[in-house]
Amino acid sequence: MINLTLLGATGSIGQSTLAVVDLHPDQFNVFAISAHTNWQKMLKLCKKYQPTFAVMTDKSAAAKLSENIQVDTKVLSGPQSLNIIASHTNTDYVMAAIVGAAGMASSLAAAKAGKRIMLANKESLVLAGDIFMQAVKDHDAELIPVDSEHSAIFQCLQGGRSGLSKIQLTASGGPFLHTPLSELRAITPDQACAHPNWSMGRKISVDSATMMNKGLEVIEAHYLFNLPADNIDVVMHPQSIIHSSVYFSDGSTLSQLGNPDMRTVISYAMSYPERINSGVDALDLTQHTPLEFYTPDFEKFSCLGLAFEALRQGGSAMGTINAANEIAVENFLNNKIKFLDIANIIEKTLEQSSHFYPESLTEVIDNDRTARAIANEIVQSYV
Ligand code: NAD
Ligand code: MG
Repeated sequence: MINLTLLGATGSIGQSTLAVVDLHPDQFNVFAISAHTNWQKMLKLCKKYQPTFAVMTDKSAAAKLSENIQVDTKVLSGPQSLNIIASHTNTDYVMAAIVGAAGMASSLAAAKAGKRIMLANKESLVLAGDIFMQAVKDHDAELIPVDSEHSAIFQCLQGGRSGLSKIQLTASGGPFLHTPLSELRAITPDQACAHPNWSMGRKISVDSATMMNKGLEVIEAHYLFNLPADNIDVVMHPQSIIHSSVYFSDGSTLSQLGNPDMRTVISYAMSYPERINSGVDALDLTQHTPLEFYTPDFEKFSCLGLAFEALRQGGSAMGTINAANEIAVENFLNNKIKFLDIANIIEKTLEQSSHFYPESLTEVIDNDRTARAIANEIVQSYV
């Protein structure tokens, strides 16, 4: 029996992970779960899975869960408790599926404890890629990507890296692939969150609409596969059937295909190097014709260019754009700024931030805080 610790159990990835667990109750035990504020949903999960630990990072939500819990689950509170469950001796695999920079410290704790980390929280790599990858290496942790593109590349590289010339991430283009730039000004949060292929949390849905998600994924790929920006490419593919490709010097290209459903990616991370049933239907290629591919429009999706720029700058620049993006997206979702302001706020934050090479998590967190403050100030000039 494999003990799973699920960081971000109430989220979209958390729920899909539990759906896979439900298909294999003889193989996986839900050892610990976490959520931020939704104690009612956690109460239901505790009743169903009876984990040893349930962490609510929000203290008042933890108190509510404690008051109402009827099973023998220990309720822990506060962000520090995430590190406890992520590094617990009885934890075998950690699903790191907290959204945003809030997920970074617990991913790192799992790495330092030498766990199998099923990494959905791409921010861990964007903010602290060098520190995180070093911890994985030093502590012999196992890192399996839980992002459809990176899982695809990881799967395509199972045959080895000999002759590898570039990797290519596919991007659906989100809901605005064919929307002219002039019409993007008036986009509402609900329109931005209506992704044509994937059902996801609201923050990552907006990131898909701006293509900042792809930008963060380029950085994620840089760290996961140890490749420079010049060997990472992006292609628009609205059907989201090809999840990414690897190009080799002999002219071969390997791609991984499937229906767009994160349960495939999650089950692969849980069963690697084997494969198990994920509950996802087999792909029927005849239902998805034609498969289309386009070159990305860097003028319309300027967030993508900003992410490449931050990767080329290296060091703190990546954390800076991530922080600015989180602030901008939050303000967009709260109707305080317009859709196109997101990229402008990120660009200005990058310009106004000092650039350095963080050497510790404290320096990463300091940079994150400073960049958020700068972004918040810039936001004020838009509201
Ligand atoms: P979500 O918003 O649906 O869920 C987020 C989870 O994190 C929830 O359980 C929530 O309780 C928890 N959380 C939120 N704020 C927190 C905080 N401050 N402290 C502690 N916990 C907090 O998000 P999601 O779509 O499941 O995405 C999770 C991660 O996976 C993100 O990093 C995202 O980029 C990545 N990812 C998601 C998808 C997808 O299809 N949803 C695909 C690839 C990668
Ligand atoms: Mg992805």
